[in-house]
Amino acid sequence: MTHYSELEEKYEFSFYPKRGITVVKGKNASLWDTEGNEYIDCIAGNGVASVGHCNDSVIEAIHEQSKKLITCPVTFHNDARALLLERLLSVTPGNLSRAFLCNSGTESVEAAIKITRMSTKKTDFICAMRGFHGRTMGSLSAVFKKQFREGLEPFVPGFHFAPFNNFDKLKEKVTDKTAGILLEVVQGEGGIHVGDKEFFAKVRKLCTAEGIVLILDEVQSGFCRTGRMFACNHFDLEPDILCIAKAMAGGFPMGAVVVSDAVEPVGAKHGSTFGGNPLACAAANAAIKFMVENKLDEQAAEKGNYITGILNKSDLPVVREIRGLGLMIGIELKIANKEYIAALMDRGVLVLPGGMNVIRLLPPLTIEYEQLDTVAESLIKVLSD
Ligand code: PLP
Repeated sequence: MTHYSELEEKYEFSFYPKRGITVVKGKNASLWDTEGNEYIDCIAGNGVASVGHCNDSVIEAIHEQSKKLITCPVTFHNDARALLLERLLSVTPGNLSRAFLCNSGTESVEAAIKITRMSTKKTDFICAMRGFHGRTMGSLSAVFKKQFREGLEPFVPGFHFAPFNNFDKLKEKVTDKTAGILLEVVQGEGGIHVGDKEFFAKVRKLCTAEGIVLILDEVQSGFCRTGRMFACNHFDLEPDILCIAKAMAGGFPMGAVVVSDAVEPVGAKHGSTFGGNPLACAAANAAIKFMVENKLDEQAAEKGNYITGILNKSDLPVVREIRGLGLMIGIELKIANKEYIAALMDRGVLVLPGGMNVIRLLPPLTIEYEQLDTVAESLIKVLSD
């Protein structure tokens, strides 16, 4: 126990079991605890620190903006916000034309749900069974798994579920009330399941034909994580609404929904006090510029192939499957992941669970190859024991 962990244990109202170390410093893909121990971070703030911890460009942008203006209501125009919007729309899929800025992934999904209802005048949504979209009551209504829902009923009505990648089952759920179909492109929390190209093509066609809004939740898979700027780029798939957050502002809290001209929310009833604040906008502008200039999409693709190549060569009886796209990697085990995750931390490698039996890797996309070697070595060692 450290002084800080004692204070947190005493005063924090937390839903999370803690992992036992007090993290006080980060740079690129390394984290340090109070004892000065260094860890290779394959968690990256749950997929946030894609440009690396304490990225110099992001630090500089936050520093400069903090001297100029930190808060500004959305009822005023603002330079940092305008420049971010221009940059954001230059990297999102071509058919998307306007963005609403918010502060987190779940808020982005909330906004998408409201915009879809407002623009279609319909009520219902179809979502995937293993999907995850956030923890506020609207986005949680789009989450099927009991583990997230139990004890929180009643939910927002009108949400229906079909198995991921099963078009026929999804189509069976369509009614004249269907406003939107909400899907991740790569399911993250659900254990890293990549969408199927044919499935997405059929869903896109169905949405266009029936006037259903296709909402893609790329909160976790967006911003180069999978080897393209957005995972939907792998499938030539254009959503009507794109939900983004996590890596968007280099670690600063921010989210957005980006919508196409086909979506016209009439009688707009939505807003956010902090959404689009200048500090977050300056951070996001710097982070996205860094992603583009440093080709983080290509880096993620190459580094993902590199580490999965090493892992695939090692014949580990405990591993059922290794899957993913870019640096969004899931190692599915035949048994529970908990002890392996703890053993990896003891060896200085921090990883995430994905459900009960998947080890999830979401490192900064700027991670060094040497660090990937150590991660692979540690995984092989721990999974062979
Ligand atoms: N959507 C997806 C796909 C996510 O992975 C998450 C969080 O992990 C969310 C939404 C919710 O994001 P936040 O925790 O920022 O509210």
